[in-house]
Amino acid sequence: MAFKAEYIWIDGTEPSPSLRSKTRVLADGSDFPIWGFDGSSTNQAPGENSDCVLRPVFSCPDPISGGNNKLVMCEVLLPDMSPHPTNNRAACVEVASKFENYESWFGIEQEFTLFEADGKQPIGFPDGGFPEAQGPYYCSVGANYNFGREVSEAHATACIDAGIGIAGTNAEVMPGQWEFQVGPLGPLEVSDQLWVARWLLHRVAEEFDIVVSIDPKPVSGDWNGAGCHTNFSTKAMRESYQPIIDACEAIGKNINEHMANYGVGNEKRLTGLHETQRIDQFSYGVSDRGASIRIPWQVEVDQKGYLEDRRPASNMDPYLVTKLLIQTTCG
Ligand code: ADP
Ligand code: MN
Ligand code: MN
Ligand code: MN
Repeated sequence: MAFKAEYIWIDGTEPSPSLRSKTRVLADGSDFPIWGFDGSSTNQAPGENSDCVLRPVFSCPDPISGGNNKLVMCEVLLPDMSPHPTNNRAACVEVASKFENYESWFGIEQEFTLFEADGKQPIGFPDGGFPEAQGPYYCSVGANYNFGREVSEAHATACIDAGIGIAGTNAEVMPGQWEFQVGPLGPLEVSDQLWVARWLLHRVAEEFDIVVSIDPKPVSGDWNGAGCHTNFSTKAMRESYQPIIDACEAIGKNINEHMANYGVGNEKRLTGLHETQRIDQFSYGVSDRGASIRIPWQVEVDQKGYLEDRRPASNMDPYLVTKLLIQTTCG
């Protein structure tokens, strides 16, 4: 018997990458071989030298096609087997292994917005106009305020069936806006699984003729943007409070490098309004949703736990964000 392996990779779309995939049919019991693709069609290579290499890094059951079929997350290499310039995973592997003894965990809150098939109108927005102001949509129930529950539920089930470490979901502040969380997991595990969960979200939404956007400010004006809050702890932070404060202080000394790698278009979202801190200011505080970094209330009570970096945009690359948080706070 043969089975299908859906090879998934991150492309070179500017200014923010997209996901691509193609299907390989393999004989039962087969490993996942190295494969290739036409990089000239993904903004990853010139036409006259177009081959890029796919190296499998993570696999799981394919919850869409079922059976023995698999999803295979890949990293992109050049033909000489060195990392492609669009491959941010390779550097994350290095930092993760260098600081392995810190036992870093991450829980990532992926926010996203569902659009009609035209890709222009968020679901729940009336034709050519705007819905009632924000307020009733967050964690709502009822057809007047909740738009897209069927997509969120089908996606959560798909992630569970795939064995992805999804932690929960909620309807967000803007109509058509949702969130799911992955983790807590190590830096590579959370990143590989978040990318597969993003692919599954696009794939599941296809069935409903709905388009997913991870643009950090999908609707301008008085509507919440979309982020990827990154909850982070080391073993020391899970055991006592001072390491959490030390981590916040260290992060506050490396603002520019983080902001340059926290997603494209984030300046439209981090305005100081809509539960954000301004992009040019840094602060941390307990329970403060207007801070760059929030220390959850329960963490202060327990005097141990984790911090929440609220700055990453919804379109961030988790390989970059997890790498930077480890690099800045460990060692
Ligand atoms: P919020 O209150 O900001 O909406 P969520 O419940 O959406 O928070 O997300 C919190 C995330 O933090 C979850 O994915 C959870 O698994 C993760 N998390 C919990 N404990 C830790 C920890 N010690 N280190 C890292 N992440 C953690
Ligand atoms: Mn959340
Ligand atoms: Mn949220
Ligand atoms: Mn959060």
